[in-house]
Amino acid sequence: MLNSEQLEKLRKAGRVSAEARDLGLSMVAKGVRYFDVAEEVEAYIRKNGCKLAFPCNISVNDIAAHYTPSVGDKLAFEVGDVVKVDCGAHIDGFVGDTAGTVEVGTNRFSALIDAARNARDSVMEFIGEGTEINQIGKVVEMTINSMGYKPVKNLTGHQIKPYNLHAGLSIPNYDDGNTDPLEAGMIIACEPFATNGEGLITSGRPGNICRIARDRPPTEPALREFYDYIMEEFSTFPFCARSCDWPKANLLLNKLVRQGIASSYAILKEVKGGCVTQWEHTVYVGGPRAEIMTTY
Ligand code: MN
Ligand code: MN
Repeated sequence: MLNSEQLEKLRKAGRVSAEARDLGLSMVAKGVRYFDVAEEVEAYIRKNGCKLAFPCNISVNDIAAHYTPSVGDKLAFEVGDVVKVDCGAHIDGFVGDTAGTVEVGTNRFSALIDAARNARDSVMEFIGEGTEINQIGKVVEMTINSMGYKPVKNLTGHQIKPYNLHAGLSIPNYDDGNTDPLEAGMIIACEPFATNGEGLITSGRPGNICRIARDRPPTEPALREFYDYIMEEFSTFPFCARSCDWPKANLLLNKLVRQGIASSYAILKEVKGGCVTQWEHTVYVGGPRAEIMTTY
């Protein structure tokens, strides 16, 4: 179980990430650049006493996750785009991880957007200590199927531990038969993805989001300084060059990747090009009914 001081850190990180999520979603409109939304979301998190738990993901249409703009990215939203904003704040390693979806200027995908949202919110009605993991996926899949769509089966919710975004349990978005119960003290991210495609994602090209893969600092002095900055600013969390307040971060990060010290996350796409929607909350399992952290 978390002590009260730890729980307050988690609550604040959760609230700030939720506010940042909604700020990002509210900015999405025709002609607005992905870059500007990501920067605003991250600035909000930092202005409010938190650090970034990962770069703001802005994943559009059949891209399910792991796109974040780089400096100079000119991509802008177009009418009909379905835009997922996924962001995370942390305080001393206690993470709020949250996401939502909007569409730009149309209402063609409102049912698909609602499918993932209703799935998440249905889970919020019962999740807590003792909940069997497959009951979460069962409700997610039933809710999404009942609206005529499929859950993305190879993207999952997850347990979160201090300074570890994906730690311990995976929480599938379908009934995988795992009857292990959630235990008191766990922090869990519930994140249903819904699609009108096949219900599977595949790894595309490497994106801008990286993590330190190996705890072996580089030998070159300039690179070592940058590495030390990353460890200080982002620790074990995913990060990207755009979020680094460091000269030539892009160049230096590429070097770390080439040396195998950092590795980049692949951009995840729906296998049949289906449109993907996502809603996510982080909850704290303090008792029979979990407390939603990523709300305000
Ligand atoms: Mn997330
Ligand atoms: Mn997550």
